[in-house]
Amino acid sequence: MKKVLVLGSTGSIGVNTLNIIRQFRDRFAVAALTVNTRIDLLQPQIQEFKPPVVVVKNEKLADELRKRLTIKCEVLAGIDGLISAAANLDYDILLGAMVGFAGLAPTLEAIKRGKRIALANKETLVVGGELVTELCKKHNSEIIPVDSEHSAIYQCLVGENAHSVQKIILTASGGPFLHLRKDELNNVTVKDALNHPTWKMGNKVTIDSASMMNKGLEVIEAHWLFSLPKEKIEVIIHPQSIIHSMVEFIDGSIKAQMGLPDMKLPIQYALGYPERLKSNFQKTCLPEINTLNFIEPDMEKFECLKLAYEALDSGGTAPCVLNAANEVAVERFLNGEIKLSYIPFLINKALEKIENHKSPDIETIFECDKLARELTAQL
Ligand code: MN
Repeated sequence: MKKVLVLGSTGSIGVNTLNIIRQFRDRFAVAALTVNTRIDLLQPQIQEFKPPVVVVKNEKLADELRKRLTIKCEVLAGIDGLISAAANLDYDILLGAMVGFAGLAPTLEAIKRGKRIALANKETLVVGGELVTELCKKHNSEIIPVDSEHSAIYQCLVGENAHSVQKIILTASGGPFLHLRKDELNNVTVKDALNHPTWKMGNKVTIDSASMMNKGLEVIEAHWLFSLPKEKIEVIIHPQSIIHSMVEFIDGSIKAQMGLPDMKLPIQYALGYPERLKSNFQKTCLPEINTLNFIEPDMEKFECLKLAYEALDSGGTAPCVLNAANEVAVERFLNGEIKLSYIPFLINKALEKIENHKSPDIETIFECDKLARELTAQL
């Protein structure tokens, strides 16, 4: 029996993780569930999965939940509660599905204990890639990616030698604005941006898909996961989202991993690895899909993608600043304060203004993150 600590259990990845655990009750149990604020959704999860501990990041809501609970379950609160859960509880796998940067500190605790990290939270590697990978080596902790593209690459690499990889090719749907011109991006609404053609996801990642920052963050994530230089990480637009990513080898052979766009598959793979578990998901019907298309991404139109490659090239705290500025800019777009095309503008300003620190420790990362957020909120 593998015990799973689910960071972010009420988001779309968290809910899908619980769907998998529900289906494989004989293999997986819930060690703890954590949420930011959504205790209304957490409560039925506690009833069903009976975790011994839950963490609510918002302290007031943690109190509120304690008052409401009728069954025995310890409620921890705040970022200290998250860190303490990851550092002390009895579990085998940490499923990291919190939104944004907040997942880093508890993930580091799990790595120090040599746990398996099923990683959906790409910000962990984007902001702390160097620190996280060093720590993983030191403590023999393995990261199995849950992000569908990286899961695809991970699956393509099984049985292959690292030196036979020519490059990896991350696929991107292109989002809802693939066919708009650059100047037309000025006029899109929040509703347009939230209307993703192929994937159902949370608001933050859906906006990141519309701006293609999501793919930019994934390029940085891939750099750390697969120890590849940016020259060996390519992005191609594939609007059907059937091929989840590819690996090209030195002999010219390309392996692709395919399936319907459903996050349950990469989650299940990360929990079950190295075994493949029999699933009851809808299977891919190739004649129905009929055609697969590939288009080169326009870096001038999708400036966020270009900025991400540049931040990876600069290294140090540049990806941290890129990520923090993006989180704030996306928030401001969702609040109706700025246009979509202002997101890369604000990120670029933050990258210009904030000094880059090489090989940052955790304190420096937190400082840069804070600085970038403050600056992006004011601009
Ligand atoms: Mn992805």
